[in-house]
Amino acid sequence: MIKVSKLKEAVSAYGTPLYIYDLDVIEKQYLKLKNSMSNIKDLKIYFAAKALSNISILNYFKSLGTGLETSSIEEVKIGLKCGFNKDDILYSPNGVGLEEIIEANNLGVKLNLDSLESIEAFTENYSEREISIRINPNIYAGGNERISVGHKDSKFGISEDKLSRLVKIEQEGKLIVSGIHVHTGSDILKNEELELTVNKIFKIARKFKNLKSINLGGGIKVQYFDGDSKTDLKEYSNVICRELDKFTLETNRNIQIILEPGKFLTSESGFFLTKVNNIKKSYNTKFAQVNSGFNHFIRPTLYNSYHEIIKLNKDNDEKETYNVVGYICEKDTFAQQRTINKLKVGDLICFKNAGAYCFSMSSNYNSRVKPAEACIIDNKIKLIRKRETVENLLKNQINIFVK
Ligand SMILES: *Cc1c(COP(=O)(O)O)cnc(C)c1O
Repeated sequence: MIKVSKLKEAVSAYGTPLYIYDLDVIEKQYLKLKNSMSNIKDLKIYFAAKALSNISILNYFKSLGTGLETSSIEEVKIGLKCGFNKDDILYSPNGVGLEEIIEANNLGVKLNLDSLESIEAFTENYSEREISIRINPNIYAGGNERISVGHKDSKFGISEDKLSRLVKIEQEGKLIVSGIHVHTGSDILKNEELELTVNKIFKIARKFKNLKSINLGGGIKVQYFDGDSKTDLKEYSNVICRELDKFTLETNRNIQIILEPGKFLTSESGFFLTKVNNIKKSYNTKFAQVNSGFNHFIRPTLYNSYHEIIKLNKDNDEKETYNVVGYICEKDTFAQQRTINKLKVGDLICFKNAGAYCFSMSSNYNSRVKPAEACIIDNKIKLIRKRETVENLLKNQINIFVK
């Protein structure tokens, strides 16, 4: 882990609440993934931009050589602004209108579409376009119900009963299915779930004669605490290779494998730093209230996710059990009945695994400004996003009662 002295230095420079990302950790994760997949001949890694979308981070990924997986036209535009090649940006929308798909098409990025209905509408105007299609494999995977997106009742992907129609559209010369894609969820706990998905996708791959790539999505699980489970990458890569080799032998075609993790690449790089505002005892509970809320850090509230808490100034070895909560006028519990070093007003605490889906999910609820973001590169702290101000909050608002 990053040195506590470095975190304190960042707080002295930029205050709290503050997100800070260690770029060395991002690189280490990238290389770990690449190396554990080294038995795959043609592998491309795309970073899922929605996990951590600061432009300095996106530029860092570009320097590492990844592509960018985007979920909105805005992310596409930001990716292009960061200088990613059009070919290295994959646009995977869900539930968007035809106009947005056409806009992405006109920007020249790769399309990964997930509804037969919108593909049919798209091919009315744009024939013989190479696209990738997102499959709903009808597999329940992912850490919890909210982040499981590949099962039968999920809105994502194209159900298997629609695939013969797609094959037919392709035969009619209206489109070219050059890629198939699947993403079944985040924090996938069991390797068997990944294996089921891989098997199914390779089976489906045999239906499409112009296929160049198979995209297995993200979902790689990281540890949130010592002893927590994580994805066995070697085993995962063996499963992929086994199916890929069979496929190549049978069809004599070379296929690129794409992975597009968000959490695996950034979760552990991030630390969220806050200050203790108040220690309060109410009935039988001791609350440690910090200068943040679910407006800045929603994962514990939304997903019940566990984030390790570290007190930065260790002035004693005494332990105490707290509900660590925020300052929002709503339930914003970061940790329930957590035993940590005894806290007092003014202490700094840091939440770990705050690099993925933390700042990028923040909001201005309660008209609170968003935190600043910083990163550590070559052992130096750099600011990558200024703390918002009240002026920022008011910038786009119009007061119709002002004369
Ligand atoms: C969010 C997302 C990812 C990244 O998921 P992680 O769990 O962060 O790895 C990858 N692909 C798609 C299509 C996504 O929506």
